[in-house]
Amino acid sequence: MNYQADADGFYGNFGGAYIPEILYKTVENLKQAYLPIIESKEFQEEFHTLLRDYVGRPSPLYYAHRMSQHYGCRLYLKREDLNHTGAHKINNSLGQILIAKQMGKTRIIAETGAGQHGVATATACALMNMPCTVYMGATDVERQRPNVERMRMLGATVVPVQSGNKTLKDATNEAIRDWCCHPADTFYIIGSTVGPHPYPDMVARLQSVISAEIKQQLLEKVGRDYPDYLMACVGGGSNAAGTIYHYLDDERVKIVLAEAGGLGIDTGKTAASLQIGTTGILHGSRIKLMQTDDGQIVEPYSISAGLDYPGTGPMHCNLYEAHRAQVLAVNDDETLQAAFELTRLEGIIPALESAHILGALPKLKFKPDDVVVLTVSGRGDKDMGTYLNQLKIE
Ligand SMILES: *Cc1c(COP(=O)(O)O)cnc(C)c1O
Repeated sequence: MNYQADADGFYGNFGGAYIPEILYKTVENLKQAYLPIIESKEFQEEFHTLLRDYVGRPSPLYYAHRMSQHYGCRLYLKREDLNHTGAHKINNSLGQILIAKQMGKTRIIAETGAGQHGVATATACALMNMPCTVYMGATDVERQRPNVERMRMLGATVVPVQSGNKTLKDATNEAIRDWCCHPADTFYIIGSTVGPHPYPDMVARLQSVISAEIKQQLLEKVGRDYPDYLMACVGGGSNAAGTIYHYLDDERVKIVLAEAGGLGIDTGKTAASLQIGTTGILHGSRIKLMQTDDGQIVEPYSISAGLDYPGTGPMHCNLYEAHRAQVLAVNDDETLQAAFELTRLEGIIPALESAHILGALPKLKFKPDDVVVLTVSGRGDKDMGTYLNQLKIE
C-alpha cells in the first residue's frame, strides 16, 4: 500500500486540485516547479542551513521520565515547541518562501488560525525582505492577540476577516480571493497539508524533516530507528504528516492521531471532521469535512484556534479510511487536563493543539517496553489566557 500522493495529488479517494479557472496557470506552474526545486542541491543546502542555524534544528527527542512512569511505556517527546517562533510551522514557511523566491514571486500572502502560521510566515518574510499580508478571522484576532502583535512587529499586514464564523475557514476563503486577484506576482504560503495539489504533498515534504530526525534520534537512544507508536494532533495535518512521513509504509509502527472533539463529537460543538465528516470539496481539495446535507459548511468548534477547521487534509482522510491510522477525538476538558499534566510532570507548557494528542494517552493501552514518540507541535505561551482561566476555576 502506498500512502503518498499520486501524480495528480490524490491519496486514494482524497486530494486533487479543484480550483477556479483563474488560478489554473498559477497552480499548474507550482505543480511543475516544486519537486525540481525541493530536490535541487541549492534548495537543500539553503533550507537545511536555515533549519539548523535559524530554527534550531534538530529539535530534541526528549525521554519524558515521569510521563513514561505514569503511562507505563517509554515515552519520547519530539520537541517542535522549541523551534524558533514556537511551533513546527516555521519549517514549512521557510521552505515555501525559498520556493517562492526561486519562482520569482515578489509578494507573500497567508491565512492563519491560532496565529502560529501567520507568525512563522511573517518571520520568513522579514528574513527574506518580502511584503506579507496575513488573513485572520476576527474571532481569532481577539483570542490570539499576542500573535497578532508579533506579526505586526515583524512588518506584516494583518487583515481581520469578518465573514462566517470569523475563524480559519473564513480567513482561508479571503486569502484565496486575494490570490485570484494577484496570481502573477503573489505566492500563497498555505500553513498545513490542505488546499489544492501540490500543497498537501509540498507541505508534507517540507515537514518530513521531523520524522527524518526521529529515525536518527531513535537509533541513538533505543537502538532501532522505528517506534511502536507515533502520535500527533491533527488540524490540517502538517505536524502529523511530518511526524509519520518516513514511516507511512512501515506497518510495525502504529499511528495514532488526535482531532479536536470540542464539547463532544455528538454535541454539534466539535471539529472532529475525520469521524463525523463526509466527503466534499473545500479549499481546492476533496476531503472529509463537516457539512449539511446540501453541502453547506457546518461551523467547527474547538477550544484551540489551530484545530478549529471544518476539514482535514487528504493524506489523513486516506489514512483514516484505509485504517492505517487510529483517530481519536479529544474533548476540550480532556485537553486542558492533559496540558496541566504535562506541565506538572515534566515542566513543559504545551500549545492547546498539542495538548489534544497528550489527551489521547489515557485512551491507549501500552506495554512497558513500547516506544512511543509523541510530537509536541508547539509551546503554550499563546494559550496562557485559557490556562489561567482554568486555574481560576480549579
Ligand atoms: C497550527 C498548529 C497545529 C495544527 O496544524 P497541523 O497542520 O495539523 O499541524 C497544531 N499545533 C500547533 C502548535 C499549531 O500551531
